[in-house]
Amino acid sequence: MATAGKVIKCKAAVAWEPNKPLVMEEIEVAPPKANEVRIKIVATGVCHTDLYHLFESMHKDGFPAVLGHEGAGIVESVGPGVTELKTGDKVIPLFISQCRECRFCKSPKTNQCEKGWAADRYDVMSAEDSRFTCKGKKVLQFMGTSTFSEYTVVNQMAVAKIDPAAPLDKVCLLGCGISTGYGAAVNTAKVEPGSTCAVFGLGAVGLAAVMGCKAAGAKRIIAVDINPEKAEKAKVFGATDFVNPKDHSKPISQVLSEMTDGGVDFSLECVGNVGVMRNALESCVKGWGVSVLVGWTDLYDVAARPIQLIAGRTWKGSLFGGFKSKDGVPQMVKGYLDKKVKLDEFITHNMTLAQVNDAIELMKQGKCIRTVLSVSPQ
Ligand code: NAD
Ligand code: ZN
Repeated sequence: MATAGKVIKCKAAVAWEPNKPLVMEEIEVAPPKANEVRIKIVATGVCHTDLYHLFESMHKDGFPAVLGHEGAGIVESVGPGVTELKTGDKVIPLFISQCRECRFCKSPKTNQCEKGWAADRYDVMSAEDSRFTCKGKKVLQFMGTSTFSEYTVVNQMAVAKIDPAAPLDKVCLLGCGISTGYGAAVNTAKVEPGSTCAVFGLGAVGLAAVMGCKAAGAKRIIAVDINPEKAEKAKVFGATDFVNPKDHSKPISQVLSEMTDGGVDFSLECVGNVGVMRNALESCVKGWGVSVLVGWTDLYDVAARPIQLIAGRTWKGSLFGGFKSKDGVPQMVKGYLDKKVKLDEFITHNMTLAQVNDAIELMKQGKCIRTVLSVSPQ
């Protein structure tokens, strides 16, 4: 490649500060260092976690940054020591790494590799180190990925090589939301055949959780959202019932308990709201109910009455759907190519990177499931 070993100047949407629109800038992307690959991003989704960092988080030191962590692209060049990837490979950058060597990677119990940005500064949601500069300033790589840029640099332990037949403008969604929701049901909750499930929050993450519950053989899947427009979409992914908490004067947990003779077997919170997390737990049946936190927030404590847990409920959390990232994402891509995993149905809007602020606004207003931004031509 003519660009290998050289700094690439390209377009990126830079978040200079919180609560402000992203700004399209020309940035410099340094060549990959040892064990790193530089990726031309072809397409990216916009996930609520991007909005969380921009508008909701209280940590204001994670700026300037290039957001975006749900992308797919093509390897442009590789740094020294890269053995698993080569120029031209189709890839998905991963916001959690899989080094295969740390004690977490070696344990089958977790997907939380100890390397990567998360090990560095969880609150800032970026590593201290970055290959981006703009106007003489270092720009952080949000969640280690930064897919709102034509090029990005990622360590090979956080890159999944995928089937060359995969359409990048669809499988980009497997870089976060869809793998997260689907895996939370299948891997973390371990939804059982014949069970009753409730999914709170029907963005892409929650709808993917509905899809995961269905794939795992759930008999009844109750989709819960305060936006009535989400009801039809939930059916597409396998929901059997839709409940809007605003339609009821009783607490939602009581509504669900009455619908299910004492509570659901599995509940998944896909909103990122500690009150909803409590509702999801309390909607579970005593004895064996399992409730999983998927929504992302680090602002407030969660609370529940101890008796809820003493009575036999389990409360757990799920990061990236419990998938070991490098292994899991290519499997999900295969699931899509084999028509076992839906992706097209999540995409409500297609735009270009330059329209990223419009895409953010759509999500804020609850008017989209996923917007896919085209970033660079293939
Ligand atoms: P989204 O904004 O598209 O969807 C959120 C949905 O929740 C909306 O449909 C909204 O109407 C609904 N909602 C809001 N308040 C509600 C309430 N009180 N009761 C019921 N529904 C309510 O977001 P998304 O992209 O699908 O992401 C969902 C959550 O998952 C976010 O918190 C995101 O940060 C998080 N997330 C977590 C991980 C992880 O690894 N755990 C990964 C990706 C995203
Ligand atoms: Zn995400």
